Amino acid sequence: MKHTDLQQIAKQFKGPLYVYDAEKIKSQYQRLTSAFKGVDQLRVHYATKALNNISILKYIESLGAGLDTVSIQEVQLGIKAGFNPSKIIYTPNGVSLNEIEEVAKLGVQINIDNLSILEQFGSKYPEIPVCIRINPHVMAGGNSNISVGHIDSKFGISIHQMPHLLRIIELTKMKINGIHMHTGSDILDIDVFLYATEILFDAARNFDSLEFIDFGSGFKVPYKEGDIETNIEELGDKLTEKFNAFCAEYGRSLTLAFEPGKFLVSEAGYFLTKVNVVKQTTSTVFAQVDSGFNHLIRPMLYGSFHHIENITNPSGRERFYSVVGYICETDTFGSNRRIAEISEGDYLAFRNAGAYCQTMSSNYNSRFRPAEVLWHQGEAHLIREEERFEDLLRNQIEIDFKHAKELKEA
Ligand SMILES: *Cc1c(COP(=O)(O)O)cnc(C)c1O
Repeated sequence: MKHTDLQQIAKQFKGPLYVYDAEKIKSQYQRLTSAFKGVDQLRVHYATKALNNISILKYIESLGAGLDTVSIQEVQLGIKAGFNPSKIIYTPNGVSLNEIEEVAKLGVQINIDNLSILEQFGSKYPEIPVCIRINPHVMAGGNSNISVGHIDSKFGISIHQMPHLLRIIELTKMKINGIHMHTGSDILDIDVFLYATEILFDAARNFDSLEFIDFGSGFKVPYKEGDIETNIEELGDKLTEKFNAFCAEYGRSLTLAFEPGKFLVSEAGYFLTKVNVVKQTTSTVFAQVDSGFNHLIRPMLYGSFHHIENITNPSGRERFYSVVGYICETDTFGSNRRIAEISEGDYLAFRNAGAYCQTMSSNYNSRFRPAEVLWHQGEAHLIREEERFEDLLRNQIEIDFKHAKELKEA
């Protein structure tokens, strides 16, 4: 999106505000599908948790994607957005058997990631085919909070428990129609990822009724200039070759699935916020914005980098700023950033604000969650209103202590 478009949107909708560029979501989707055009059947399951606005889900559905979900509520959102249940995969971690049963009744593909639930589900419903989440124990890199493939990770069924897994399947006579892995959130090295896929193919050889193999996600997107990103085209070439060879050996053409969140929506998002105060101390110039980690927590939670630019004065002389929020705790968005000269009232845009930003927002400090706008075919569409005061009290129950006391005394 152009600076002038963002300026115009900031002027129209004020802020703080999330803006998503539909065209970027589409081009990322097409980039992924064309990198894998060499496989017979490809399924891209968009990871709902990255960004779950209903209009975004509808847009992604219109591109032809399926959906990856981690809770029954995400499944329900997906169905409401128009996804056919058969195009939804449900990959929860540590949820109750009861929730898994409810999702299965909706006709959604179940993906089970522990032996206890697998045995219980298989004993009750041997006729419902399930996918199993394998942990190949390959570290794909990234932050330790988002890297989920390591040996002591809580995710997936350890590859070392294959004999136990096979005993359960034999005992229950359940059908395994898919095999899955999701190693972490940042694939930096394609060879490491391909090594994990070899382990998954090895596991797949134990099952004779597979319909798909799901390689999860972890595509790294650039956050700043010169950042390494996953080379999707190279991954496409190399994995297609391995996958097709595996299908030939397996004797049947399978569906290759992925579950990208960040890759599809991260770069499509901008967070716009106004500068309330420019505060010069003895060591630092702070730009204090009309926001905080209640709206965008990734820098504080993961140490993530979000490029920040001044869209009101984009060609101003650059100076160094620490961009901070208004929360009564340290909430630094970026330290010592070179940004075009900032005046109070200017709008700043944070890049890569599409994934895990709005979905992680809260009402901390009793602030409203911000509005969301979708930029589609040159027009700005409001897709979520900013919250209002009533929203802060929604579901709360007020007790009238004063009146109760009077009644008692009477
Ligand atoms: C979060 C998640 C994803 C998406 O990961 P990204 O890094 O956003 O692409 C995919 N699959 C599962 C099972 C997940 O939990």
